[in-house]
Amino acid sequence: MDKRELKYRICMSCGSKCCRRFDYHTWYVQLSLRDILRIAQGLGENIEKVVENYIKLIGNNTYKIITLKTVDRRCIFLSDNGCTIQNFKPIACRTYPVYIPGTYADPDCPLSQYPELLEEENNYVPQYIKEFEETRRILEEEKPNTEKDLITVIKKHLEEP
Ligand code: SF4
Ligand code: SF4
Repeated sequence: MDKRELKYRICMSCGSKCCRRFDYHTWYVQLSLRDILRIAQGLGENIEKVVENYIKLIGNNTYKIITLKTVDRRCIFLSDNGCTIQNFKPIACRTYPVYIPGTYADPDCPLSQYPELLEEENNYVPQYIKEFEETRRILEEEKPNTEKDLITVIKKHLEEP
């Protein structure tokens, strides 16, 4: 059995715990701006539809956080068979449960007991850091207040003219 299959089985036995406990305060998936572009490309939908259907801005007046909408605390992309956007899921989901290489965001995550399976997750950490530095810089500059503002920000900074 390859590593991906083994990880999938571990996540299925855990019941996708990390994808079904969102409360927008203590637990949420933080998205980079580039995550939104990838989800749009992966789903074959435009940015407007993706933001309208799947994205929520949380945070405060000083700093906003981009996250995914939920249904009964479950991620909107979670099905009974796991993540429905596996091939283009957010970068934070790609590194999870790795926080920084060798350190885990949630020690209760069963996968964190298998560091030998987490090479791919570790390898995504530099991309995670780069994308969130970019996202933080742009959000601090533009200060979007609504999801509609976010569409304008993405088009201004990330989409090809
Ligand atoms: S990453 Fe960890 S907490 Fe999330 S579903 Fe897999 S085993 Fe469970
Ligand atoms: S995008 Fe996929 S992996 Fe990430 S929280 Fe949602 S269902 Fe889980």
